[in-house]
Amino acid sequence: MPGFEIFGDEERKQVNDVLESGVLMRYGFDGMRNNHWKAKEFETAFAKRMDAEFCQLVSSGTAALTVALASAGIGAGDEVIMPTFTFVASFESILALGAVPVLVDIDSTLTLDPTAVEAAITSKTKCIMPVHMCGSMADLDALKAISTKHNLILLEDACQALGGTYKGKPLGSYGDLGCFSFDYVKTITCGEGGAIITNNARYAVHSDQYQDHGHDHIGKDRGAETHPFLGYNFRISELNAAVGIAQLGKLDAILNNQKKNYTILREALATIPEVTFRSVPKGGEENHSFLSFFLPTEQLTKKAHKALAEAGVDACFYWYTNNWHYINGWEHLKNLKSLGNVAIEVKNQLQDLNNTNFSKSDAVMSRTISSLIKIGWTEKQVHDRAEAMKKTIAAVL
Ligand SMILES: *Cc1c(COP(=O)(O)O)cnc(C)c1O
Repeated sequence: MPGFEIFGDEERKQVNDVLESGVLMRYGFDGMRNNHWKAKEFETAFAKRMDAEFCQLVSSGTAALTVALASAGIGAGDEVIMPTFTFVASFESILALGAVPVLVDIDSTLTLDPTAVEAAITSKTKCIMPVHMCGSMADLDALKAISTKHNLILLEDACQALGGTYKGKPLGSYGDLGCFSFDYVKTITCGEGGAIITNNARYAVHSDQYQDHGHDHIGKDRGAETHPFLGYNFRISELNAAVGIAQLGKLDAILNNQKKNYTILREALATIPEVTFRSVPKGGEENHSFLSFFLPTEQLTKKAHKALAEAGVDACFYWYTNNWHYINGWEHLKNLKSLGNVAIEVKNQLQDLNNTNFSKSDAVMSRTISSLIKIGWTEKQVHDRAEAMKKTIAAVL
């Protein structure tokens, strides 16, 4: 996920536009700002690229998830179904609103298992939040059918899958709401930033107001604006948005490059009969930011992961024992460790995560290795890496 690999003159020029006026804020100061509205400009361009009617930029991907949930009216005690394999932002955003994360198994797509989702629905469920991990997607048709049947909101976390598509539609644009991150290691970056896309005009207005203290954004005098409801500050700055405009212009080149490098690595590993690849739902096209594959057993996978590091093949991840991305590492969530009291609804309704059976997820994650795809690799480096991966993995089998 390499936006930072190609930071250059385009980003510098955009940032300089902002620095020349000194107006770092996205709202107001009309007379001073030389007519730059970088956040607005990025929102318009991103909505267009993502085939969505509305885009709201915010300060991070975590903020995007929080604002998206809030905009759909999710609050204390509402249950949100999320996967066991994701980034901690999934449950952080849910808990921030006093809502309750309900963790369910993943399958060989490395995303939500639709059968497990349906089994987890209760009268308190409000939202299904698939997370398109490592560049590929959940079975969106199946999840859409479930959310329609039970009248739930479908919120796509596409933070790791920008540019991937499902049945010809950009990931993030299929559900009721889609969220993106532009943090420093994502496909495109603006330092810190995030976005929400939607075709729902009500959610769009709610997002716009919620992320800026509930301001109604009517008229030209910020001080005179009213507050239809309580909000918070999740605003992006003009400096960050400026970088995002330049990076968005590079997205298609990034995606092409990732696909080329991914394909070389995949073809090499496909020659090993014991290696299989994550499944991609029919009609899906990955963004190729990672190549994820399975080995036959947990023991062989651990051995292969260690051997890859020893052979100097960097950026191969074994998420099963990693602190950030899998339930195994989330002691703080399992034991609800927080600085202050947590919402009573969360305390009462949260699963006993120390004793919930996630053996189906374990069976997949314990056999998964993901190789990051960089765009800075030369053709020779990619081929050398492919050979090294093939040789090292074959040797442990
Ligand atoms: C990065 C990421 C986020 C959060 O993004 P930040 O901008 O770092 O807050 C959320 N979900 C997933 C899947 C991510 O990878």
